[in-house]
Amino acid sequence: MPAPQCASCHAARAALRRPRSGQALCGACFCSAFEAEVLHTVLAGRLLPPGAVVAVGASGGKDSTVLAHVLRELAPRLGVSLRLVAVDEGIGGYRDAALAAVRRQAARWDLPLTVVAYADLFGGWTMDAVARSTAGSGRSRACCTFCGVLRRRALEEGARLVGATHIVTGHNADDMAETVLMNFLRGDAGRLARGGGLGSRGEGGALPRCRPLQLASQKEVVLYAHFRRLDYFSEECVYAPEAFRGHARHLLKLLEAARPSAALDLVHSAERLALAPAARPPPPSACSRCGALASRALCQACALLDGLQRGRPRLAIGKGGGARDEEGPPPPPPSDPGSAPGPAGGECGAACKERCE
Ligand code: SF4
Repeated sequence: MPAPQCASCHAARAALRRPRSGQALCGACFCSAFEAEVLHTVLAGRLLPPGAVVAVGASGGKDSTVLAHVLRELAPRLGVSLRLVAVDEGIGGYRDAALAAVRRQAARWDLPLTVVAYADLFGGWTMDAVARSTAGSGRSRACCTFCGVLRRRALEEGARLVGATHIVTGHNADDMAETVLMNFLRGDAGRLARGGGLGSRGEGGALPRCRPLQLASQKEVVLYAHFRRLDYFSEECVYAPEAFRGHARHLLKLLEAARPSAALDLVHSAERLALAPAARPPPPSACSRCGALASRALCQACALLDGLQRGRPRLAIGKGGGARDEEGPPPPPPSDPGSAPGPAGGECGAACKERCE
């Protein structure tokens, strides 16, 4: 049976049905609709004011690639300028290839690119060095705990380096819905309280962050990348764990089979969630070491680095470890003789998105 006509232009044959609405569109009309919806998200949420210098967290993966491409299309209408900021975590055999994809994008789209490296920012620590140091402490999970916290800090540093006023990340509706589900399942009121909305306004001197793709489904992000023929990197990180997020993802798929709007409904639920006063986390204060926002004496990044320097990385992992002040053995040297092998597992973005936004 021939494909139906595009419901928008009525000229071309439809190339897809939009997953949620069922609308039949040709590739060009779908891409235009996708861009218009992201524009509406940004304008309605007042996410990026005219004149903003926007640091796009670029990993080379599909979400950040689509985000950078769409914002580049929209930049003249929004009146913003873009900078790509990529983070080199120091993961041998993985991040180099992902960074190569980011460099190709920067060259093709004529966007300035800055790469910030953990090794430079965090006293020589790379993720490979962290992996060796945390071996035996639930390694892959521990790696992502460190990596996510440090990458958030690194992205902030990189954005400041390029003079950005705002940070954007490529989280889509499925990512956010999974996060909401996980936080409910863990009973994590603190994260639930922070999880709503399209971003953070930049408390405590931090740059405002937002997620312009937060209302776009994963399927449509992939379709946009396909029809725009975008070049992105899709390998898994060597430390990607069999994360709890995988269960949330599976549950979300089951929910979507019964209710196609389930992901978006969960995202909106988090926006409207009101916690009882007793369940609200205490207001954050300033880290005693670096001045960043912290719910304890040390912020998460300083606490994790402190644990590494003391040779007691486990002290800093988990809810009770953020600001412990125990003496440990002399610090291990963060030597980095090459890539450390790690367990294969789920999608890198899964773990990253859990911690980094
Ligand atoms: Fe970092 Fe993501 Fe790799 Fe975990 S899976 S170590 S968060 S890059």
